[in-house]
Amino acid sequence: MGETIIPLADLRYAAAVPRVPRDAPAPDGLLADRLGRPLHDLRISVTDRCNFRCSYCMPKEVFDRDYKFLPHASLLSFEEITRVARVFIAHGVAKLRLTGGEPLLRKHLEVLVAQLAALRTRDGAPLDITLTTNGSLLARKAQVLREAGLKRVTVSLDALDDAIFRRMNDVDFPVAEVLRGVDAALAAGLAPVKMNMVVKRGTNEQEIVPLARHVRERYGRDVVLRFIEYMDVGATNGWRMDEVLPSDDVRTLLQRHFPLEPLEPNAIGETAERWRYADGGGEVGFISSVTKAFCRDCNRARLSTEGKLFTCLFASRGHDLRALLRGQRPDGTPYSDADIAAAVGALWRERDDRYSELRSAGAAAAGSGERRVEMHYIGG
Ligand code: SF4
Repeated sequence: MGETIIPLADLRYAAAVPRVPRDAPAPDGLLADRLGRPLHDLRISVTDRCNFRCSYCMPKEVFDRDYKFLPHASLLSFEEITRVARVFIAHGVAKLRLTGGEPLLRKHLEVLVAQLAALRTRDGAPLDITLTTNGSLLARKAQVLREAGLKRVTVSLDALDDAIFRRMNDVDFPVAEVLRGVDAALAAGLAPVKMNMVVKRGTNEQEIVPLARHVRERYGRDVVLRFIEYMDVGATNGWRMDEVLPSDDVRTLLQRHFPLEPLEPNAIGETAERWRYADGGGEVGFISSVTKAFCRDCNRARLSTEGKLFTCLFASRGHDLRALLRGQRPDGTPYSDADIAAAVGALWRERDDRYSELRSAGAAAAGSGERRVEMHYIGG
């Protein structure tokens, strides 16, 4: 069965086996791409499956009963993921984010979290390990994940109104259960929780103020609500520019109800612009992926469920690290960590991705014409 499905997956997203350069310098944590950007974050997708069918990510018409998800044998094992993470850490990565699909659908995820939590940055510090989830299973898993070493969690929630939320997730899942997951995360010590709302004009913009009010009143500073512009990731969501509600408009709307003050960024490469409520009621963020591209500081790499490395969320081609993890050198010996580090280093040095900037400049549509990677497959 694996033999028939794996080639299908490979046809979905082209991926070349990376070159392993000879005499590559040993990783020194100072890797930079062609635009001078370091490698700091690794986002690891642990499953391509999700129990929601949000129209902007996994629309039901495409991801139906006949859709072929990846077979288990083609997924990276926890040991393989940990090995890849170790290689990336040698190159300077200090933050790991587990994504999906819905990562909590991967069985025993806490075992992976514990393995990753045992790693240390080049400076010997604990890693920043976080997770993005739709929250549906969080009430059950928050405590065990925290005990395994998870530091933080980001929960997606696109509406407070139960009917709108059920319609958006398209599987009739109730808001109350997601909020129960947020409560559990806070009780487990995962504060502050980030909550991500993708705003789609004509679909959920009426939820901006109610959700902000609810988060302020129920959680205060313990939850940071972030508004994300609806993006053209993948090829299945039928994205249209007129469905994007710019962050500036969201902020203007919010400020009519709750005065806001700007905050300094926490770190270089941070995707969200930070603001706080002037009355001390907490913090909000705006992720302007479409109207204010942040490619200039993009220090993120993404690893797909079956071990393909993508250097941009909008890439159409990956680099098949699994082929190195499971394959052999021409002399028949297994590839070493140093070989894989050399391959990753060469790939990052060649990187010049800046899709969102090009989109803003009107040039993205002139890309290669290849199918871009889907969000459910690579995480957001
Ligand atoms: S478009 Fe690509 S390079 Fe630009 S911020 Fe997004 S992931 Fe990074």
